[in-house]
Amino acid sequence: MKSLTIYSRNSTAASISMPLKRLLMKLRCLAFGHKVSNALPAQQIATKGCPCGAPILDEDGRATRVSHTLSCFFFGHDYIKMGERDGHSEYVCEVCGHPLLVDTNRSPYANKHAFHKKVRFLCIVKGHQLHTVVDRNGLTEYACHCGHSFLRPENGRTNFRHPLTCVYKGHYISFIMRREGYDEFRCCNCGHPFYFIAPESDRTLIAFNR
Ligand SMILES: [Zn+2]
Ligand SMILES: [Zn+2]
Ligand SMILES: [Zn+2]
Ligand SMILES: [Zn+2]
Repeated sequence: MKSLTIYSRNSTAASISMPLKRLLMKLRCLAFGHKVSNALPAQQIATKGCPCGAPILDEDGRATRVSHTLSCFFFGHDYIKMGERDGHSEYVCEVCGHPLLVDTNRSPYANKHAFHKKVRFLCIVKGHQLHTVVDRNGLTEYACHCGHSFLRPENGRTNFRHPLTCVYKGHYISFIMRREGYDEFRCCNCGHPFYFIAPESDRTLIAFNR
């Protein structure tokens, strides 16, 4: 009888803690944005759902508000090669989905398969020095020599600094296209792209086996 009482108490606590956990997650996502990452459990990547219960990363053009990944910002990104295009080598952070786009002929990173790279804080202070990579998806793609890239509606830009709204609120990202096993999203405020592992891609199968 005693063990039955303990079991009953434990199951009641569990049934209370689940909605409470969900509520705390909802409040966290409401305050900072959803935490989206390529290091999430593969099930979450496949179903495109945040643990708070909200759908994320829709492909219908609806924006998902994503929070900043502070560990990447302060300690650096873990990049893995995604492919080559438009004279540039393209990488993606295995944690936060941040891309890196570097000139294949000039960058010391261009021949690497994977590497760790810190954020270039001088670019954050002074702004990124941009060159045009290509026009695509109705936008102009730019890259800085630090590898940071932007998709902007205007052409001919040579400098860009992150707007404060993205610093405070996080990025509002919507779907652009799928390639190389990743879904590409773009922030509607700053033009910053993010790449997240596409559902049903080979990369999702790799994530399932992690
Ligand atoms: Zn959420
Ligand atoms: Zn990162
Ligand atoms: Zn830069
Ligand atoms: Zn943004």
